Parts: sequence; C-alpha cells; structure tokens
Amino acid sequence: MSKEFKHVSESEVTISELMLPSHSNFNGKIHGGYILSLLDQIAFACASKHSGQYCVTASVDTVDFLRPIEIGELVTMKASVNYVGNSSMVIGIRVEAENIQTGDVKHCNSSYITMVAKDKDGNSLKVPGLILSRRKSVLRFLKSMKRTQLKRKRDEEFHHIDFSSPDFQNDLKQYRVKVEL
Ligand code: GDP
Repeated sequence: MSKEFKHVSESEVTISELMLPSHSNFNGKIHGGYILSLLDQIAFACASKHSGQYCVTASVDTVDFLRPIEIGELVTMKASVNYVGNSSMVIGIRVEAENIQTGDVKHCNSSYITMVAKDKDGNSLKVPGLILSRRKSVLRFLKSMKRTQLKRKRDEEFHHIDFSSPDFQNDLKQYRVKVEL
C-alpha cells in the first residue's frame, strides 16, 4: 500500500556523468539540449520514486544556463521534490560541473520541472504528501507554491486580455515589434 506522506529524502536522486565530445555543439561547449534531456531523466526518476507511479513531464520552469559546460567536465545533478499538488510534483534540480584536473566546481543551473503521476490509461493519480523535516525543504516548498500561484495568475491575466485595448498597444510601443493583426 502506498504511503500517505513521504519524506523528501526518500526520493532524492543524484547522478554524475562525464561530458563527452559527442555531447558538444559547434563551439565546443556541451549542447543545452543534452543537459535538458538529463534534467528530464532525473526529474522522472525523482517523481517516480516519490509517487511510486509512472510519471510524465508537464512543464519545465526556468532553466537558466548560467555558465557553459565544457567537454571533460564531470556534471552532477541533484534532484528532490520541492512541492506536491494532487497529482503533480515540482522537482528541483541543481546542476554543477567539476573540472576534474583542478577540482573547481561551478553552479551551471537550477531548474524546476513539474511531473504528473499517471496510470496505464493516462489518468492522473494522487501522489503522497510531503514531509518537510528541514528548513530548506520548507523554504523550497513555499518558493514553489509562490511560483505556481504566479504562473496561474499570469495565465488567467492573458486569458482575459483584450488585444484591441490601447493599453496593450502602449505596452508594446517600447519593444522592437510590429503588430499587424
Ligand atoms: P534552491 O531551490 O533555492 O534551494 O536552489 P538550489 O540551486 O540550491 O537547488 C535547486 C534545487 O536542486 C533544489 O530546489 C533541490 O530540489 C535540488 N537540490 C539542491 N541541493 C540538493 C542536494 O544536496 N541533494 C538533492 N537531492 N537535491 C538538491
């Protein structure tokens, strides 16, 4: 029987991978798309561990590539559940790259991916609640909650926007765009 609540630590996942030349783009840095694919894999593993179910990616929030990753660096991704809704889970992932020769470690990005638990017919499933036993986990839950609320508000705002209103036209005046409706 699945538990009603689970500790954040029960589903934490860490992966390390050496960056090979085959993962590089035309200027010799590691291709962002390859990092996105690793992020998706670790998010899947973490969400599946928490829910005990098959999970799908619902959205990827804020993937800022802060620093480029070089060939030969050892990339470590650490993931944990930041927030749970009914069937959704926000997985936070910290990406660091280590220069193996010097031991220097740089923070490359922090990403937040929303995963949803599904049954074999594609129906959403209820996931266990989260037990927050560290201050950091409480902070991450609150931050994630805020991001979710802001996203909902933004979506609602754009749902009701009047594209013919002069305000909207004024807002765009300062940007390098022409509206030709
Ligand atoms: P934060 O979200 O403000 O704490 O930003 P960070 O860059 O420190 O971390 C991004 C996310 O990566 C966090 O929200 C966590 O979900 C995850 N994370 C960070 N550090 C660790 C760690 O030591 N272990 C695991 N499993 N996950 C971590």
